[in-house]
Amino acid sequence: MTQNRYSRQILFDGIGEEGQQKINRKSALIIGMGALGTHLAEGLVRAGIGKLYIVDRDYIEYSNLQRQTLFTEADARQQMPKVIAAQHALQAIREDLEIVPFIENVDGTFLNRIVPEVDLVLDATDNFETRMMINDVAYALEKPWIYGGVVRSTYVEAAFIPGQTPCFQCLIPQIPAMNLTCDTVGVIQPAVTMATSLQLRDALKILTDTPFTPRLTYGDIWEGTHQAFGFGRMQRASCPTCGEHPEYPYLHHSPTNYAALCGRDTVQYQREGLTYDQLVDYLTSRHMVYRTNGYLLQFEYGGYRIVAFQNGRLLIHGMREVEQAKKLIHQLFG
Ligand SMILES: [Zn+2]
Repeated sequence: MTQNRYSRQILFDGIGEEGQQKINRKSALIIGMGALGTHLAEGLVRAGIGKLYIVDRDYIEYSNLQRQTLFTEADARQQMPKVIAAQHALQAIREDLEIVPFIENVDGTFLNRIVPEVDLVLDATDNFETRMMINDVAYALEKPWIYGGVVRSTYVEAAFIPGQTPCFQCLIPQIPAMNLTCDTVGVIQPAVTMATSLQLRDALKILTDTPFTPRLTYGDIWEGTHQAFGFGRMQRASCPTCGEHPEYPYLHHSPTNYAALCGRDTVQYQREGLTYDQLVDYLTSRHMVYRTNGYLLQFEYGGYRIVAFQNGRLLIHGMREVEQAKKLIHQLFG
């Protein structure tokens, strides 16, 4: 690999030769491979990150293409898992990149397994519960993490550094309310690039060991408003994550078997022990039609489109209520 590809970044005095070498040696985990995740991954890979872990539970749909920059129409047509399509795209940008993709639902078990391996965690989820888990695992393991969120034309960003800054829990009262809820009002690309620019800036500082004072930044790119403030003094002594007696309430959190997915008109169901082969046998024995792309399998049942992944995880589309999903799964598997 030629260092020449990083020449403009090395010329930048905030990074330099030494900073570049640090970036090349370090690793990061990006949680979520949607709008934020694809931007962050491309930015880190082009900047020279040594090793990248990516995780996402979903596959690509046409509605993703407006803002999820690593994906193509062919990926949507083939319903490729997001992390697999991202892996191919990123590896084409940089052959020497070490990349580890996970088609998985992020829970406490996953985070406790992977976060110890990395230097930095980047949040690219659309999901409050996952952020609470990231916050607990990051503070328990003393790893920095960077929060990012977008809704409509608004963006929000903050870096959390254990031992140096208060945590996400302490900052929640200051975060614009709309960024804490699951919203289906849409999002525009410029808001995504604002959030991820801020996240990438803080990532480059953390990866190069550049001292800085993290700030909460938020704004509305459509309206042209932009604000930032330091939150170093907002730590609560009673905080269960970074306070005097941390309990890390979300540390070993595992989502329930059934979960309605944020703004997706979809219920996720995790069936422990159900293998891909078992499901194929089951569908075949009942003469049910299915199609597969090697990573996931799709069939229809009771008028609903169901997508099954290798690890016994099913997405039931066109459904919002967990109770409705339980009924359908009971009819299907007994
Ligand atoms: Zn805290």
